[in-house]
Amino acid sequence: MSATSLKVNDFVVVHSQTLGRKVVGKITELVSEFVDIEFCCFKDPENVKFKIYSLPEHLPGKHILSSPHSITLSGKRMYYHSKFELVQTVDELEEPRQNVTKEVKVLRFIDFVKSYKNPREAFPDLADVPISDANLDDFRVFFFRQRINQGVYIPELKPSCVCNQVFNPDEDFIECPNCPGFMHLRCLRHEADRKCRDCKYEFPARDLYNIKKKENIKSGEDAQAF
Ligand SMILES: [Zn+2]
Ligand SMILES: [Zn+2]
Repeated sequence: MSATSLKVNDFVVVHSQTLGRKVVGKITELVSEFVDIEFCCFKDPENVKFKIYSLPEHLPGKHILSSPHSITLSGKRMYYHSKFELVQTVDELEEPRQNVTKEVKVLRFIDFVKSYKNPREAFPDLADVPISDANLDDFRVFFFRQRINQGVYIPELKPSCVCNQVFNPDEDFIECPNCPGFMHLRCLRHEADRKCRDCKYEFPARDLYNIKKKENIKSGEDAQAF
């Protein structure tokens, strides 16, 4: 990509020599080295320093036992990890600028779920593609909702849906208008009283029905969480 277009705070995919794989990072510094030799100065190839935003599977694992649910916070890809999900780290790398392969967007979680209420429709080319180190370049947008520092994940992810599981925005969902909760639509539809797990707001059947009609167009995908 064009070398001059890179700026501090840009998010980029880097083909890291250090890690031997692709990684997403936020640029913290553009490093140029000037070497003065008499009347001339040579500019070495610029490096980029960046903070790693990691796929969940590359992070250290940690189990929290919080009654009544035991939650693995990270360390491997869990059922609640979106394919668009990264974890902010404090780890920094420096790589040659030419290892940057593309710019990407990395949004805060709340901005992502408000922008992409149905990631499968927003990114149809990625709907059935699991994310991996190899295909990071195929993704244009990611989000993060946790950061890790010295093995501690902040914030701790908690169950938020009536299924008592951590919300995964890759599934069709509905936002509670009364509290910060997000429910999986399929879970709420299976509840007799259609109430928010936390604040007990009762979703009008109309709201679920409208989205349900949309879901029916994609019959066959309903049972497959990705
Ligand atoms: Zn649920
Ligand atoms: Zn609520």
